[in-house]
Amino acid sequence: MNSKLYGNLIFELSHPGRRAYSLPKNRFGCHTIPPSLRREKDAELPECDEMTVVRHYTNLSENNFGVDNGFYPLGSCTMKYNPTINEEIATLPSFTNLHPEQPEETVQGALEVEYGLQQALASITGMDDVTLNPYAGAHGELTGLMIIRSYHQSRGDNRRTKVIVPDSAHGTNPASAAVCGLEVVEVKSTPEGLVDVNDLKPLLGDDVAAMMMTNPNTLGLFEKDIPEIAELVHACGGLMYYDGANLNPLLGTARPGDMGFDVIHLNLHKTFSTPHGGGGPGAGPVGVRKMLIPFLPKPHVIKTEGRFMVEQPRQEDTYSVENNRVSSYLGNFLVILRAYTYILTLGKEHIKEVGPLATLNANYIKECLKDDYELPIEGLCKHEFVFNGLKDKTTGITTMDVAKRLLDYGYHAPTIYFPLLFHEAMMIEPTENESKDTIDGFVRVMHLIAKEARETPDLVKGAPHNTPIGRVDDVLAAKHPVLTYRQLLNDTQSESGA
Ligand SMILES: *Cc1c(COP(=O)(O)O)cnc(C)c1O
Repeated sequence: MNSKLYGNLIFELSHPGRRAYSLPKNRFGCHTIPPSLRREKDAELPECDEMTVVRHYTNLSENNFGVDNGFYPLGSCTMKYNPTINEEIATLPSFTNLHPEQPEETVQGALEVEYGLQQALASITGMDDVTLNPYAGAHGELTGLMIIRSYHQSRGDNRRTKVIVPDSAHGTNPASAAVCGLEVVEVKSTPEGLVDVNDLKPLLGDDVAAMMMTNPNTLGLFEKDIPEIAELVHACGGLMYYDGANLNPLLGTARPGDMGFDVIHLNLHKTFSTPHGGGGPGAGPVGVRKMLIPFLPKPHVIKTEGRFMVEQPRQEDTYSVENNRVSSYLGNFLVILRAYTYILTLGKEHIKEVGPLATLNANYIKECLKDDYELPIEGLCKHEFVFNGLKDKTTGITTMDVAKRLLDYGYHAPTIYFPLLFHEAMMIEPTENESKDTIDGFVRVMHLIAKEARETPDLVKGAPHNTPIGRVDDVLAAKHPVLTYRQLLNDTQSESGA
């Protein structure tokens, strides 16, 4: 254990009487808190000097791995660089000090940001209008499905309860459909990793509300049959839903609206460079075709006679499907602001380079490594691809071992054991930002690990060796989470090393 990197808890560094603060003189007189509200005993807070506090938290922050520390090829998560200018704009007091209940005429600038992003995303995706209200990708999916359901119901088409989801879909797709009260029907993939049109046909009928698709799909493959699929689904009266969490490969090359999709959600916290991980905050805007605009949730920003206005929901305080309200206000404004900054920084011309570069980087890594790693589906990929473990199956080295060994070399592991179509899946997504040097460095290390797997497998099996913590027992952590400090102290004494 590296004691510098993985130090004590701040409570363990405490010494009674040490101080790292001095309070200013009280200029306001004395306020007494009623005895019934006062503690009986002082709170047990850590008492440390300033340097100890600074070093403790600085060292903790260095234990974190982020895009700013190193290469982070986490497939399906689009860990792209979040330009610092986004952060700078998002900390401007003229934005951060706004209150959501302020009158429209005092927040025209903020409303212009919202409106501008609605327009930009509509134009990037080929949709007619966009809501920025949803707080995450999954929330966008739920919103999109609610819109679809409201649309069918408004036409008296109440039998449509089925949502078709490919077996390669992100887990949130079936989950969102279920939460929306719809029935999930799975469609299989062909051995080439694409939606099986022959498996799809018998599932279609007048009970289908929608088909949810990701394109390129979770294997990083472009669904080339998409025009036929859209036609089949539309012919039976269903709508096409596009999971655009990872729109990166399409930026500048293709638009879901042109492929026949009616509803789409995006993850601003993936494709549009706002930081993610750790559960938020995020934003999952939803775009729709013209006939669905009346079902978009509110509040929604519109522009009339050069001024920005907010269309409010019918009943101010009700969250419901009928009311089409999915958020308290206009969405996660500072996430929206970062995404808009990103789009304006790149501009129409440079945003077109994102998709092709992300695709080039992924294909380059795939081709460089396929002699050592099993590539179950040959051919061109888009922004990401999947290996099925090491090619040499005799070493006994698993995808988990490779992922752990990568940490020793200073790289974040790819997404592993997802998608579920292969047993040893390793999903690699480099994004467009990485230089050839960085990518070549990663390729070298992946080759080196394959060599170690053959020659010194125990070294790989025992990895990581250089990180503050070795392999954690994630099952134990999930089954017996230790959530309090006191318990942690007792438990680490009895289960040291756990
Ligand atoms: C990340 C992701 C989602 C879910 O997004 P959240 O913001 O985590 O809810 C949905 N679909 C795909 C394909 C994703 O990669």
